[in-house]
Amino acid sequence: MNFKEFYSFQYINEATATELRQGTSKTKKLRSEPVSSEYVSINKQGTVKFKSTAVTTPGVDNWIQEIKPVKRVRATTTLKNFRDAYNKDLLVKCKCNDFKYRYAYRATEDGYILGKKEGRDSDITNPSPVFPEGTVCKHIHNALSVIKANIPKMYKEFKEKN
Ligand SMILES: [Zn+2]
Repeated sequence: MNFKEFYSFQYINEATATELRQGTSKTKKLRSEPVSSEYVSINKQGTVKFKSTAVTTPGVDNWIQEIKPVKRVRATTTLKNFRDAYNKDLLVKCKCNDFKYRYAYRATEDGYILGKKEGRDSDITNPSPVFPEGTVCKHIHNALSVIKANIPKMYKEFKEKN
């Protein structure tokens, strides 16, 4: 039995927006309340950028979040299937330090990290296998709450680029 199988009871193995938001720690949920997230852009591959207020980082106004569906979206994807893709499993990342040092490792282990994997255990900031600090930072928590409302805008821009 490998490491992943051994801990499979707590591995979420990719995650939907709802699962990631439900998995956010109580503290981060509270801290996400003053955060406001705004849609920035979508690229040809369907990676969506959001900009969320940094709130607590001195000298930083915003952090960028990137969110991409696991299910591939294409030029021919209908609006219904496009919406569906963002309702299913997502890959996420945030530029903030909290994500980098606290969540990137869990996101790697649980298969929901977008881009570069983090192999260094967050043994102090969010120790495995229980990950008491939850799934995502307050910015991603908040950005995930505004995806649905932005689908028409995202789809329009995606079609223009493809
Ligand atoms: Zn963040």
